[in-house]
Amino acid sequence: MDTKVVKTTEEELIEAAAILKKGGLVAFPTETVYGLGADALNEEAARKIYAAKGRPSDNPLIAHIAKKEDIEPLVREIPEAGKKLMDAFWPGPLTLIFPKSGRVPKGTTGGLDTVAVRMPSDPVARRLIELAGTPVAAPSANTSGRPSPTTAEHVRQDMDGRIEMIVDGGPVGIGVESTIVDVTGEIPMVLRPGAITMEMLKNASALWRSIRPS
Ligand code: AMP
Ligand code: MG
Repeated sequence: MDTKVVKTTEEELIEAAAILKKGGLVAFPTETVYGLGADALNEEAARKIYAAKGRPSDNPLIAHIAKKEDIEPLVREIPEAGKKLMDAFWPGPLTLIFPKSGRVPKGTTGGLDTVAVRMPSDPVARRLIELAGTPVAAPSANTSGRPSPTTAEHVRQDMDGRIEMIVDGGPVGIGVESTIVDVTGEIPMVLRPGAITMEMLKNASALWRSIRPS
């Protein structure tokens, strides 16, 4: 497979979105690292992510959305703490774990009954997801065990020939992965530290002072 590298014009993003809609793989910038995107509702597409990365298939993927409303088809319910955290930190590098709906294939969630969702702040990521018209599963665009890429060139060195397209939006800002908080239980729980610090979570609300690390 030839990996095409494009920039971020509307025409190029439309072409990238068409690949995602057809179940293909497209790497794109987010504010944390470059992600390796596929349609999160298409089990076959999700499987391609695992194959390209050499990622164990029980390691769940994060579904990325363009607007808060787009979470609806992915989840069974949005717990109160989830709503508050979405309002405080979305768009941004906070991933939340919700009970999953029947529409999310287990091939995306690594067999779990929960789903990880994030709304990135990067405008290229958001426009691409919007044009794809589906939530986009996107782990870091590197083969398992290699560092998470912060430039399109790093993605190319690692993924050339394994994916259809790379959207080059320049170097990305943080290079640190999203913070993951599980809001399915009584008390929100931090599963992975990341770009949103404990301090920021605690400061956001009195309720979240009860957040504890796993
Ligand atoms: P990343 O490698 O940045 O794409 O993040 C994926 C990580 O998110 C996984 O390795 C898990 O640690 C976490 N994750 C994704 N989905 C879930 C879930 N449903 N429940 C718990 N953790 C999850
Ligand atoms: Mg990674």
